[in-house]
Parts: sequence; structure tokens; C-alpha cells
Amino acid sequence: MRKPIIAGNWKMHGTRASVAELLAALKQGVTSASNDHAEMIVFPPAIFIPQTEQALTGSPIHWGGQNTATEIGGAFTGEISAAMLLEFKCQYVLIGHSERRALYGETDAITVKKFNLAQQAGLQPILCLGETLEERQAGHTRHVVLRQLDAVLKQISDIQQLSHMILAYEPVWAIGTGLNATPEQAQEVHELLREQVAKYAPSIAEKMRILYGGSVKAANANSLFAMPDIDGGLVGGASLNAQEFLQIYHSIN
Ligand code: PEP
Repeated sequence: MRKPIIAGNWKMHGTRASVAELLAALKQGVTSASNDHAEMIVFPPAIFIPQTEQALTGSPIHWGGQNTATEIGGAFTGEISAAMLLEFKCQYVLIGHSERRALYGETDAITVKKFNLAQQAGLQPILCLGETLEERQAGHTRHVVLRQLDAVLKQISDIQQLSHMILAYEPVWAIGTGLNATPEQAQEVHELLREQVAKYAPSIAEKMRILYGGSVKAANANSLFAMPDIDGGLVGGASLNAQEFLQIYHSIN
């Protein structure tokens, strides 16, 4: 059994006050008694991670970093290392989000470096993969997501390194656009990704969580999560609204 995950990527949104309000509402909505069916993770902007740690310590909700550095430490102005995230009890980190790839020039090679450092430090990486609209229309979806996944798989020296990996399939054309992949379109890619990991480590592939991301809302969550290889969601816009995000979280029951 794979325990589903509902993760909220807050991107560069929030103030001290709005973060406090959102965290308080989520904490109230996810009690130890109600979190058996799924795990909730929030990814606040880095500057709000200490506030998140303070608010969520003792609750069943987990938190993580939206990004991490390609280096362990040193003269890298503005960067945040995996070890720093861990100090503030982050358990997870997003790696290779399409906004990092498209807006900050993160290549597969950079993604692999971040993935490895995060993992070595003890964080669980959520590796984000997905094709653009042009790539889908040209029939290149399989090729693109497998290229992004293989970049990580091919350089793994110890297969056990994959056991903490989580994938997030996020078609770029569905992120923040209000368009979502149909459950069938998403399922097709999720199945492909699981099969690919199974070529390296079959038992790990079976247990690995693969999240769908791209305009997940309370209204479409149910049908997406009903698919056999969709193990939850990575939610952007809708995760900033506590009621909507909680509805998504409870809809996976
Ligand atoms: C995301 O940022 O990962 C995302 C899926 O955003 P949205 O839900 O707003 O499409």
C-alpha cells in the first residue's frame, strides 16, 4: 500500500500573517486521528520555514523546501543548502520544478546534482517532471519525461538511493493555467514512470509515490486520485486556500 501525499507548493506567496492563518487552519483540519489515509506536506517560501516549523511541530503535517543548492556550503550568495533545510526539520524538498527549469535555467544536470545532495543530506526529494504544450503536441511527452527521469536513474550507484524518491508528474501546460490533464492522460504517464523505475528496482517502483500536479482543485481531485498510479497531488494555487486544500486532502480518502 502506498500512502498518498497531498503537498502544497506555496511558491513566492504569503506574508507572516497569511502564513500564520493558513498554518493554523491546516493544523485544525488535519488531526492525528484524520491523517491515516494520507500525508500532508507544505512547501512554504524559505523565509517562512522557521515559522512553519514552529507552528507545525507536534502536528501530523510535514514541511519541506521548494529548492536547494547545488553545493554543500560556501560562498554561494542567496543559496540554501540541504543541511540548512534539515536544521529546520524539513523532511522533503522539491527538485526540478518546471518553474526552476524554465525560469532559472535548471538543466537535467543541475537537477541531478540537487537530487544527490538532498538525498545524501537525508531529505526526501520530490523530483518534478513534465512536458510543455509544444512537446505534448509534437508527441514527445514520453521522450521528455523519460529523459528527465533517466538523468537521475542512470547515475544512481546504490539502488537503495531510490527508495526515498517521490515523483511528481506536472505537465507544464497544466501548471497555474486552470487546464488539467485528464485522469487518463495523467495515468498513462504515471504508469510509464513506474515502469521505468521498475527496470532499475521493481520492488521500489511498486512502493514509490507518484504525485500529479497541474491545476488540481477540489472539483477535479477525486477523479485524478481514483487512478491506480496516481498517489496524490502536488498543488500550487489551490494550496493557498486552507478550505480548498483541506477538501483536496480529504477527497483522497
Ligand atoms: C505547482 O506549482 O506545482 C502546481 C501544480 O501549480 P498549480 O496547482 O497552481 O497548477
